[in-house]
Amino acid sequence: MSDRPLRPDTIAVHSGREDLTALGVHAPPLDLSSTYPLPDIEHGGDAYESLATGGHPLAEGGMVYARLWNPTVARFERALAELEHAATAVAFSSGMAATTAAVLSHCAGAQGTPGKRHIIAVRPLYGGTDHLLDSGLLGVETTFCDEDEVAGHIRPDTALVMIETPANPTLQLVDIAAVVAQAGDVPVLVDNTFATPVLQNPLDLGARMSLHSATKYLGGHGDVLAGVIACDEETATRLRQVRAITGGILHPLAAYLLHRGLATLPTRMRAQQANAQRIARWLSDHPAVREVHYPGLDGDPRGILGRQQQGPGAMIAVSLVGGFAAASAVTSAVEIFTHAVSLGGVDSLIQHPAALTHRPVPPEARPSADVLRLSIGLEDADDLIADLDRALGAAARVTGALSEDAVHA
Ligand code: PLP
Repeated sequence: MSDRPLRPDTIAVHSGREDLTALGVHAPPLDLSSTYPLPDIEHGGDAYESLATGGHPLAEGGMVYARLWNPTVARFERALAELEHAATAVAFSSGMAATTAAVLSHCAGAQGTPGKRHIIAVRPLYGGTDHLLDSGLLGVETTFCDEDEVAGHIRPDTALVMIETPANPTLQLVDIAAVVAQAGDVPVLVDNTFATPVLQNPLDLGARMSLHSATKYLGGHGDVLAGVIACDEETATRLRQVRAITGGILHPLAAYLLHRGLATLPTRMRAQQANAQRIARWLSDHPAVREVHYPGLDGDPRGILGRQQQGPGAMIAVSLVGGFAAASAVTSAVEIFTHAVSLGGVDSLIQHPAALTHRPVPPEARPSADVLRLSIGLEDADDLIADLDRALGAAARVTGALSEDAVHA
């Protein structure tokens, strides 16, 4: 092999498969064991100690128990880490389980730094994340702020700064390097779900953790619930410890499907993004649409596209002329788009954030009632445009927000 670094498409296909030839197989093995035979009590006990404290399996002693370690999960973690330019990764049963572990592992007690229970979070965030932080359920206090206010809110007990870019659902971009500079010694977690490692590598910009709801683009086929955090080994040890204690490890069958999904991630992402670019431009000329929220559509004064994020991605939000009534009518009228939450799969989805994904967000931070979020899939862009055109026309007729001429313009 030459010294030239492999490109992401090659990594996506080959990562986590380095040992397959030696194993004499072509597809990765899937290990569904819930427990593992122990060689003897002493070695088994040592292995248990290592794994329960967030370490790796020992040479002798086995993997002990599936809540502590699973080789199929570890294989997916290696593959994702390589795509994220990270030393390692830790996989969880959902994106929210990953977020919970990130909070618990950085706040009081878990890392031997008692008293750290303050988090700074830049809004907007996915509604579930906002709810988790705002509810105080995990015993943390959260300051929500804009991205240029982070430095002003840092306190001696600040454990973590959390950002999401592009943000769900407004597609607002956050300058990762600028937030990292403001955070100083405080670790920064970036929710990289919308961009994926194909478009953005937060660790290269100084973030400590890159988190994914792997349910979305990484799985890509709407059949897996999962979360994963790419990070350094020290952070991973703390995350694995929380995962072992709280029981949030990913199921091996889900890890198998995710690993398979990674192979096509760059190709899917580029094709879905190309569809989204066409659809976003088309929507911005539609009389029933007041505003299209899509990175770069109205320019990019801070130059984030290209520098931080290698493309606008495949998520779009629209504000409709006819408000909530129009949004409701569009979701009822679409035929190719499925009216459903979630995103990032091969099929296109549409949903109303204020009523669904962002319902638990306090009213002052909730998306407005005229906004719909679209996840653009791999269907033919002309078919998707025709579906939206028909649904927007039907909505305009129901709400009377536009004249017949405007609907047919
Ligand atoms: N982060 C983002 C950006 C999301 O969109 C979601 C879910 O929609 C999550 C995190 C939570 O992930 P999960 O639903 O896999 O728990």
